[in-house]
Amino acid sequence: MSDLVITGGRIVDGTGNPAYDGSVLIEDGRIAAVGVSADKRAKERPDLRRLDASGHTVMPGLIDCHCHLSFDDAGSNSEIFFQRRNALSALVASYNARKLLRAGVTGLLDPDSTFENMIDLRDAIDAGIVEGPRMSCGAYALITGVGGTAGRLINDEGTTGYYMAVNSKDEIVREVRRQIKQGADWIKVHVTGIIPRQAHKGELCCWTMDELKLICDTAHDLETPVMGHCRGAGATQKAAEAGFDLIFHATAMDDAALQAVIDRKVPIAPALTFQANMVDYGHKIGTADYLLKLFESEITDSIATMKTAHAEGVPLLTGSEAGFSLVPYGDWHYREMEVFVKYFDMTPLEAIQCATQKSAFGIKMAGEVGVIAPGYRADVICVKGKVEEDIALLGDPGNISHVLIEGVAKDLSPPPPRKPIPGWRLASIGDTRLTREVAFGPGTPSDTPLIVEELH
Ligand SMILES: [Zn+2]
Repeated sequence: MSDLVITGGRIVDGTGNPAYDGSVLIEDGRIAAVGVSADKRAKERPDLRRLDASGHTVMPGLIDCHCHLSFDDAGSNSEIFFQRRNALSALVASYNARKLLRAGVTGLLDPDSTFENMIDLRDAIDAGIVEGPRMSCGAYALITGVGGTAGRLINDEGTTGYYMAVNSKDEIVREVRRQIKQGADWIKVHVTGIIPRQAHKGELCCWTMDELKLICDTAHDLETPVMGHCRGAGATQKAAEAGFDLIFHATAMDDAALQAVIDRKVPIAPALTFQANMVDYGHKIGTADYLLKLFESEITDSIATMKTAHAEGVPLLTGSEAGFSLVPYGDWHYREMEVFVKYFDMTPLEAIQCATQKSAFGIKMAGEVGVIAPGYRADVICVKGKVEEDIALLGDPGNISHVLIEGVAKDLSPPPPRKPIPGWRLASIGDTRLTREVAFGPGTPSDTPLIVEELH
């Protein structure tokens, strides 16, 4: 491994501190010195490689705490459940992982995957067989027989896509232990799901308190943390009280849920990029106006509680929900920071801290990565311009000139274009229904608006 000094850059250290000009010295994959002492020590080492970062921000790599690498930009759950093959989805994920590097992502948490094959991708990346960000992952997402967010598509027992149904306490214990044996870093639980006949109530909690506690106790006994998909106040409160270590979404919290989260400082990854993309760009893909409003209310309804949680010291982590066609790999990993700034009134530096120092928790490397300071592993990116003044600079891969993981520069050339894989996508005769209005022009009487179902 060749040591390196990055000079002439503007350092955003990931802790929320103001940006400052200075050098970063990297030795043996770790940050050895920063600022004047980096220059001093670099002078004594003529063998060092030098990287000129003039006009660039030097900052910790982004960490995406909610990215499904095996889903391959799917347009529907049906596609993920019924079109996908085990080995091929891991191979495709390895192709997509390179897109994350180009976007400045040096770490990701993959919550759940088809055939739980992101365990294998993680090991392949760790072994240097495939190039990609550092990964931490769950296996199958646990659900009860009631199902998750895909209603009747989910089998009453066993696996469906990225889900595993567990229908008794014995099954819970057996499955949690099996996943940990297979190599899951986290246990993922779909705490809430949509019951088709009661869909108007939103997502409901599908577990008893005893079951949630049993999951946590079984996993914690084996030193493995638990993360939960929770929409709605009751489920979020229960998950926090049961001992969950990380909560996704946590939308629509009431005072009791918020207090349960604050008391335990349970990190939250709201993963609102999906909704924000729908709100800002849904009209470009033909989403009906009333749905845009519905998605926006999911964000705006959470503003007060998320702001309070953040102010009270609950870590807010960044997650893109990449893996679905609305959030393609490589394009939107910075976007959650934009959401935090726009809706939760964070400064760009606070939002960057969420995506770096705080999100290191998601890859189980808090205190090891996510900060530019001596002793931290050198997961460092160089970005053209002053990101603390314009967070959107991080969205353009053209601005990301260097990505280092543990001090090693990653290949940022675009992956070669791919061709369609037979049977991989859900066959469709077209996105638009041939209503009379489409056939004969605006004003022609027609019915049925576009319906978009919740996917994740
Ligand atoms: Zn998800």
